Order: sequence, then structure tokens, then C-alpha cells
Amino acid sequence: MRILVTGGAGYIGSHAMRALTAAGHEAWTYDNLSYGHPKAVKEDRLVIGDLLDKDRLDGTFVQNQIEAVLHFAAFAFVGESVTNPGIYYRNNVAGSLSLFEVMRRHDVRKIVFSSTCATYGIPDQIPITEQTPQRPINPYGHTKLMIEQALRDYSRAYGWGCVALRYFNASGAAADGSIGEDHTPETHLIPLLIAAALGRRGPVKIFGTDYPTPDGTCVRDYIHVDDLASAHLKALETLTPNSFTAINLGIGKGFSVREVIRAVEQVGGRPVPVEFSDRREGDPPALIADSRLAREKLGWEPEKTRLEDIVASAWNWHRQHPDGFRTSRQ
Ligand code: UDP
Repeated sequence: MRILVTGGAGYIGSHAMRALTAAGHEAWTYDNLSYGHPKAVKEDRLVIGDLLDKDRLDGTFVQNQIEAVLHFAAFAFVGESVTNPGIYYRNNVAGSLSLFEVMRRHDVRKIVFSSTCATYGIPDQIPITEQTPQRPINPYGHTKLMIEQALRDYSRAYGWGCVALRYFNASGAAADGSIGEDHTPETHLIPLLIAAALGRRGPVKIFGTDYPTPDGTCVRDYIHVDDLASAHLKALETLTPNSFTAINLGIGKGFSVREVIRAVEQVGGRPVPVEFSDRREGDPPALIADSRLAREKLGWEPEKTRLEDIVASAWNWHRQHPDGFRTSRQ
């Protein structure tokens, strides 16, 4: 298939680009590079443009005869979404509607959308199924839920085939260490712990030790970015007209912050400086996916389910690229 990957120069999008190409699809990245990295994708597969630029999108659809879309492009900093919701509604919601309008213009009816477990907010029960009520607790989650709702309506009205993949905690890096996670600012646990272990930053603040979890720290379902990418491929292949399906993407197993610290120490063979501090606002105690639907509907299985393996791939990337893509050897 000929596929447009919005946000394909970002962390998850760039791994999906690789997976698509390896599977024999023709894929182009559409990215405004506000957070994406040009070095994360092949130059001749990168179109620099904004979702709100309909003319640029139009031209991209025509020129490359696009048949389906993987829609990753979004702002995704929860804290920033609270202090500056305007840019989240504009970029994520208005940007998606602009993309959908161009898709309609070109009669493209297939889309896989990057949603998030943040749409569940603080769930009543664990593990989280796709039927768990969606009650986001921050603007980032609200914008993702709105886009899901739009797609549900578009599937009914315009016959689109839509899958919304609700990611849990994306982590790790490509096996060959050539692409990986590079956020500015970095807020995610694993890259921060690795940077601290490598002596590139001071102690990492651990947000809360009094949660109602086995060791008092938050529990998350860490899923390897290549397993996320492979799920997109499967989703694309199973898209059927007139349907909207939401699917959780996690491995179905939770690890506490303390367990993640131990895994980083084990992989790196050195201690990680940490500082225990207060809870971060808005952090649910535990988020673990019920991942049965992904296995049933997509025939997907995560390959990396050992935390040490996920951390080892991230370690490899960060060790080789101390300044992320600025020190990329590509
Ligand atoms: N966390 C932490 N210190 C940090 C960053 C994260 O203790 O500097 C914790 C956070 O409270 C959460 C877990 O690590 O329980 C994963 O956080 P991350 O930001 O990586 O992903 P999130 O679950 O918020 O999407």
C-alpha cells in the first residue's frame, strides 16, 4: 500500500516507517519537524509540512497517490497540555480534522490513529479493557478522545475503516541502535534513568512512594516501540470499511518504578542516582492493559516482554547517541 505517515519523524512514527518499508509498503512521512527529527527518516521519504496546511497535504496525497494513513502527528506533553491547552486543541484536534478533510477530498478511507491510555484517566479497575470508561484527566487525553470520537462518526457516515490504537508506555529503541527516543524536554522515566546512569544528568526524581501498589511506586505497562510498530502493520492489514475499532497496545504486564530502576541498573551494570520525592499530579497508581483484543483482532504478539530487553535496547541507543539525533551516525 501507499501510506502517509503523519508524525513519521517522531519516536513511534519513525519506527513504524521502518516496519512499513521492511514489509514492502511505500511510505512517506509528513511532519512539521516541531518535535520530529529529520535524521529519523530517509530524506527522500520526508515531506515537511503542517497538518493545518491543506494545500501541502493535498499536493502530498496527489503526488504520492496515498491509499491509507497512519496518523501519529500530535503534541504529547501532558504537563504542557495543562498549561497551554490551546496549542493542543489546535495541533491535535484541528490538525486531525484538517487531515481528515483532505482524506475525504482524495477518497482515502483507511486510517490507523495513535491514541493513548491517557484517554482512560484514572481507571476504576486494572487491567484496562477497551470497554473501560474513557474519562481523561488532562487536555492531552481530551484531544485524543475527541479525535477517536470524530473517527467513530466518520466511519459511520463516510464508510471509513478506522483503528485507534491506545498505547500504554512506549519504550525502547530499534534493535540496531540507529533510531530511538529523543524528546526535548525529556520527561519519560526510562530515558531519564539511563541519562542519570550515564552521568549525563543529576538524580532522577521519583514521583511518589506511597501509592497503593506492591512497593509504593507507580506501575506501568511498558511496551517496546518495535512491538507498537508491528501492531500498526497488522492494524493496517485488517482495516475494514464502515468500522471503528479501538485496541489497547500494552504487553499486559505492569512494572513498578522501582522495578524499572533495578532493570536499568542491571542492564547498565552501575547504580542509578535517584531522589525520592512527592507524587506528580495526575499520575494514576497503575496502568496495565488488557491486551487480549490486540492478540485476537490483529493476531499480534509483543516480542519483547522482558523489561531488561526493552531497557537494553534503549540503553544501546542512548549510549551511542548521547545527544540523540544531534549525534546520530546516520
Ligand atoms: N516518573 C518518575 N520520575 C520521572 C518521570 C516519571 O518517577 O522523572 C514516573 C511517573 O510518575 C510514572 C512512571 O515513572 O509513574 C512513568 O512515567 P512516564 O512519564 O515515563 O510515562 P507516563 O506513565 O506518565 O505516560
